[in-house]
Amino acid sequence: MMTFKRLNKTHIRDLKSMVSPDRFSTGESNLDLHAKDQSRHKPCRPEAVMWPATRDEVSGILQYADNNRIPITGWGSGSSLEGNPIPVKGGIVLDFSRLNRILDLRVEDFQADVEPGVIYQDLNKSLRHQGLFFPPDPGARATIGGMIANNASGTRTVRYGSTRDHVLRLSMVLANGQILEVGSRVSKSSSGYDLLHLLIGSEGTLGMVVEATLRLVGLPEAYSAAIVTFSSVDAAGGAVYEIMRAGLDPAALEMLSPECIELINREEDLGLAVSTTLFMEFHGPGKGQLAETLDMAREICHEKGCGEFP
Ligand SMILES: Cc1cc2nc3c(=O)[nH]c(=O)nc-3n(C[C@H](O)[C@H](O)[C@H](O)COP(=O)(O)OP(=O)(O)OC[C@H]3O[C@@H](n4cnc5c(N)ncnc54)[C@H](O)[C@@H]3O)c2cc1C
Repeated sequence: MMTFKRLNKTHIRDLKSMVSPDRFSTGESNLDLHAKDQSRHKPCRPEAVMWPATRDEVSGILQYADNNRIPITGWGSGSSLEGNPIPVKGGIVLDFSRLNRILDLRVEDFQADVEPGVIYQDLNKSLRHQGLFFPPDPGARATIGGMIANNASGTRTVRYGSTRDHVLRLSMVLANGQILEVGSRVSKSSSGYDLLHLLIGSEGTLGMVVEATLRLVGLPEAYSAAIVTFSSVDAAGGAVYEIMRAGLDPAALEMLSPECIELINREEDLGLAVSTTLFMEFHGPGKGQLAETLDMAREICHEKGCGEFP
């Protein structure tokens, strides 16, 4: 069985010397802030938190930790719902919030090079005026590094895929400090082992992401959304099947049970009808094409006995 060491005074002195003084902490509040994510899993405090600002710092810290058998846990913004950023073995939490630059936007290539601490909503704000966006949308204020580690998906996955479908290249630091480049900026490349897709979704267990090249898509010209109620899950499921089969290509699709709707009404005071409900969003190149799509979706939902279709 693998044994880990607790941090001693020498470790703390050595680790402190690897980053500027404001980027190393053993303070109670910082340890508490990095002891739990948004899940119900039991909190576990790390022994220290470090905020690396360069890939070389990440490499140096991992190499030192490996040589000294100190556990390391990556941290984006701690928004996970599975407990995976919780440092269950203590040791060091590497918080990537200071490694947060958008390094390059290559609009003509539909690509962005980013550091792992970039929050995806902030990236999308910077891209708005270029007519592009990064589609995976888990809903939380998550970092690109955390989303890659989790292969995060969300409401728009039905059309655009998950994070995995939007990462072309990664720079990773392995446990021994080695920096590995996987994938490529060229999409027509298929030779060799697919290490990129092994690393995406590995939850920080195979290495730390220090840079990523993301694949972007064009912002649609027209949007439309509909909230539609059904008498049963079967009826709503039947409507989803027909919408997909007809190739209407919804951009977002979520089915909520009556219990969820009740909860939303209680928390947000929305006054939604309490029933099985489909939330749908459609994207299109223009209003005319979108109106046609909505007409077809309306017809399908009515065939399945939906309530009012807006
Ligand atoms: C309201 C809400 C709704 C959500 N809905 C969805 C959903 O519909 N679909 C879905 O898939 N997810 C959903 N999520 C979860 C979502 O996937 C996570 O919130 C997100 O991926 C975590 O990002 P983070 O930056 O907070 O990472 P953290 O939570 O901090 O970390 C996540 C994992 O990534 C590792 N990690 C962090 N940074 C790095 C790095 N640089 N290198 C290597 N490993 C790293 C951590 O060790 C941990 O294992 C939802 C979350 C919330 C709060």
